[in-house]
Amino acid sequence: MIRAKGMTQFSRLVLVVCLATVVPSVSSQPGRYVNPMLVASAERVTGDRFRVATSTPNGVSVVAINQPRQDVLNAIDRGLAELFDVARRHGYRNHLNFSDYTVFIGRADRTKNSAGEYSPDIAVQAAQYAGSVYDQGGFIYAAGMVLAFNPSAFVIAEHDRDLSRISNVVRYEGEHIVLYYNDRSLYARTADHSRGGSHPILQ
Ligand SMILES: [Zn+2]
Repeated sequence: MIRAKGMTQFSRLVLVVCLATVVPSVSSQPGRYVNPMLVASAERVTGDRFRVATSTPNGVSVVAINQPRQDVLNAIDRGLAELFDVARRHGYRNHLNFSDYTVFIGRADRTKNSAGEYSPDIAVQAAQYAGSVYDQGGFIYAAGMVLAFNPSAFVIAEHDRDLSRISNVVRYEGEHIVLYYNDRSLYARTADHSRGGSHPILQ
């Protein structure tokens, strides 16, 4: 998720860079097991070393560079709970368990956006966003990124405040995954924000 200049609170653009093709599919595993290929992929994308594996009260796997605070874990649960509620209202049934998801918490490559507001984001290769309004010179700042669909994982940046932003980013990145499992055509139309579109996709 990034925020462009002059945008209002209600028209935040959210970016997702989907790197699922570089991650082999594996079955989900019980407990705190985190697939090593998934961790390697997250480390390659972020440049971070992930050292901590834990879970939220509702059972989301969380992999982080530092031990996450309890209120951060709670914020992750809130974001997914809201997403699952919206998804059920749309009649979706697949992949609506907290344990279906792994959230990586990486180091923020910036903590303020161009408007000077608190906005912990991760810098990633521009790829399809090259030359777009998001392009910062070969990279873009994203609040979140989908890393894989099976197992389902995305990465967000560390926050020390404004934890409602964590809930939003989790809800928005999770939205791509829920669509992938429940409405592949809507997923395909909304996955690449360089062609327009933002979050929430599901109202
Ligand atoms: Zn997105």
